[in-house]
Amino acid sequence: MANMEEIGNVIIVGSGPAGYTAALYTSRANLSPLVIEGWMWGGLLQQTTEVENYPGFPEGIMGPGLMQQFRDQAERFGTRFISELANRIEPGTDGAPHTVWVGDDAYQARTVILAMGAEHKKLGVAGEEELSGLGVSYCATCDAAFFKDRGTIIAGGGDSAMEEAIFLSKFASKVTIVHRRAEFRASKIMLERAREQANIEWLTPYVVEAFEAREDGNALRQARLRNLKSGEERVLPVDGAFIAIGHEPQSEIVQGVVEMDDEGYVVTERNSTRTNVPGIFAAGDLVDHTYRQAITAAGSGCQAALDAEWYLRDNPATPTPPSLRYAGAPRPRPRAPASSGGCASC
Ligand code: NAP
Repeated sequence: MANMEEIGNVIIVGSGPAGYTAALYTSRANLSPLVIEGWMWGGLLQQTTEVENYPGFPEGIMGPGLMQQFRDQAERFGTRFISELANRIEPGTDGAPHTVWVGDDAYQARTVILAMGAEHKKLGVAGEEELSGLGVSYCATCDAAFFKDRGTIIAGGGDSAMEEAIFLSKFASKVTIVHRRAEFRASKIMLERAREQANIEWLTPYVVEAFEAREDGNALRQARLRNLKSGEERVLPVDGAFIAIGHEPQSEIVQGVVEMDDEGYVVTERNSTRTNVPGIFAAGDLVDHTYRQAITAAGSGCQAALDAEWYLRDNPATPTPPSLRYAGAPRPRPRAPASSGGCASC
């Protein structure tokens, strides 16, 4: 163990809106959190351009700029950062501290907040990476407004693809849904809603084989498609291509540590961020199958911070000796007086 600093209160693993919000709240609660933020800190918002749907920024804000502000705000109250990736988490048993490893360095704390997020699944075709942010996008909710009166495609056949297509159809002149099967995985209601939109067209069973750029290389020009049954090739001129083929939670390092569902999302107790391991909490896209917005991730980061704070309060490092323990009902959570505004955490 190369590095073993004193046992901390909170280690936060991950640095999107959930991780930095958890850091802001725990640092303001004087818990001196340590954020293991990764060298590509900032999460998925680092890959986006303008964010127009984060409340509080009426003129919009660039994704990386928003994450810088989240980070600065957490730093202002004493958050410490390590800009490397955590590679292992060892849960403590029977109230012992948890250990997070960064390479050969071990960091220990009584609580850990997992906020590693999720990644959009990629098609893995030619031009996809190069044209990402230049016409190829993974988030219609974020980028649809940039494609007003333009031709676009959506790749995918699930609920996300339908939802993205319906949203996009309010901006784009045409949305072509390209799906690899004639049947759709999407729910009936979402399919029906998409079918009601006059400017949504359907192409099945097709796959995208490549995205190709304009001559200057600075924008998407067309998508090269192939019919999986007939083998026919088709070139579709488009300005925007949205890939909605699912998400992958970044949960590898907690496999076998906390409970996960079949898709690799960390499972938390209903209406809380508690995992099945006492003192380990999870927030943001790592647990969220459904909403996956910056604002919802930030909200759950706040919940995780409060859950960690309450856990530390209720499980003191030095327990009260049995002879001094109050023998009655469990200690109630202190309530703020009705007239005070009512929020000690704020
Ligand atoms: P999903 O249900 O897993 O659907 C992914 C889609 O992408 C499938 O149609 C799949 O095709 C296709 N796909 C996967 N890999 C592909 C590849 N390499 N190339 C081409 N196509 C590929 O994912 P999702 O749509 O993100 O939905 C995830 C969950 O969130 C679901 O439970 C969904 O109901 C929920 N959700 C709900 C709502 C809502 O109700 N408003 C909105 C969004 C998401 P195949 O079908 O051929 O496998």
